[in-house]
Amino acid sequence: MNADRQKKYSPIRTIIVTGIIGMVIVIAGTTGFLFLQTRMLFNIELKQECYLDLVEFREKLVEFELAGKTERDSENSPAGENGKAATLRFMEGKLAIKMKKAGFATLPPIMADRERGPDMPSAMSFDTLMAVLDNSIALARSESGESTRELVAINQYFLFFILAVLLTLSLTAGWQLHGNYRQTLIPLAQLAEQMKLLNRNIPESIHDTAEEIKKELAEASRSSDITLVTQSIMDFFAEIEAKNKKLDEINIRDEKTNLFNYRHFKEHLITEIERAKLTGSRVSLAMIDIDHFKLYNDKNGHVAGDQVLKRIADLIGSQCRVSDIPARFGGEEFAVLFPRTDSDTASEIAERLRRAICAEPFENEAHQPAGQLTVSAGIATFPDDGSEWRPLVNNADRALYTAKSAGRNTVVTFASLNREVT
Ligand code: GH3
Ligand code: MG
Ligand code: MG
Repeated sequence: MNADRQKKYSPIRTIIVTGIIGMVIVIAGTTGFLFLQTRMLFNIELKQECYLDLVEFREKLVEFELAGKTERDSENSPAGENGKAATLRFMEGKLAIKMKKAGFATLPPIMADRERGPDMPSAMSFDTLMAVLDNSIALARSESGESTRELVAINQYFLFFILAVLLTLSLTAGWQLHGNYRQTLIPLAQLAEQMKLLNRNIPESIHDTAEEIKKELAEASRSSDITLVTQSIMDFFAEIEAKNKKLDEINIRDEKTNLFNYRHFKEHLITEIERAKLTGSRVSLAMIDIDHFKLYNDKNGHVAGDQVLKRIADLIGSQCRVSDIPARFGGEEFAVLFPRTDSDTASEIAERLRRAICAEPFENEAHQPAGQLTVSAGIATFPDDGSEWRPLVNNADRALYTAKSAGRNTVVTFASLNREVT
């Protein structure tokens, strides 16, 4: 697997990661906003309280001023000694703390100034004091209004922020899903279509079909997941093909001797005859039979017989050319197909083979009638000795029986039988 494939993230993973990042942003934004909103609300409340307290203080101060004047005129008692002055002092103190907290400029000392008595020169005239208070009241009112507007604006910004995050998340998810659809679902549908065709019509070569699927999918934009799926299918096909080859091999081989089996031999014989009909070439065939094999089995047992059968099969295989088809015809009989080969050449090969078997030392062969294990062979050639496969096999058999009758351990061609007859 190459590194590029590994680097590619799956769209679903991207959607999840984007979602988590989006959620973190939303949670952090909301927490920050709630904190800011609480602080702003507290500040607005404080400013409104300052405004209301200032209004009340102003009213009470006017009352106090009027009352103080009357008292001063009638009883000549100091204005600062009565209960109203104490209340106003208390209010002024509280107001000073609140105004400081709210960030307003603190008022000049009012009660201390007013309570100096009529004889003392006042730092501020009453009118100036009223003007200062009115100014502070107006400021408190306008600032609390301003803070309220700010809070509304912040709320709107926050709403906009949340909408923007949600929109971004939705667009990202949509884009990723679209990519997922394009890179995964479409190629998957194509893959399914190919598999359907494959199921309907099992091709000659699974490998070629797999290559076709790979090519088609390569043309479509693919995700790493699809590449993995495709690769797995390719591997699966490769495995099937390897197993098919193994099965084919098993299907055409004889289990005991590992030569080709009768079916494979017959198919090739028919094919080669048809080819020879078109090309005008010759096809020869040898039937080979072990001499007195029953005797060998009887004396040495079938296990030893099987070993001889396998050894002879190996010798037959080793003497043949690549184009020849050596097969086990049945029992202890072998057949060799020689494509594009005349009778004399086939006879030469069979003779070489006979000599090799004769020369081969086999266990306990000394008890055989000839003192050794031997084979006999009969040769027939297309088209001279038969124009179809069946008569050709029969005539090779006839030549074989002639070889048996002639004393075994010999090769006889069907052509030589005809010559003898004529
Ligand atoms: P001939 O020279 O006339 O061919 O004599 P023969 O004994 O070989 O011929 P026959 O047809 O009488 O006997 C064939 C023997 O081949 C009988 C059978 O036990 C043996 N045979 C056939 N197939 C197998 C096999 O797969 N394994 C073993 N061990 N023997 C087999
Ligand atoms: Mg036989
Ligand atoms: Mg025999």
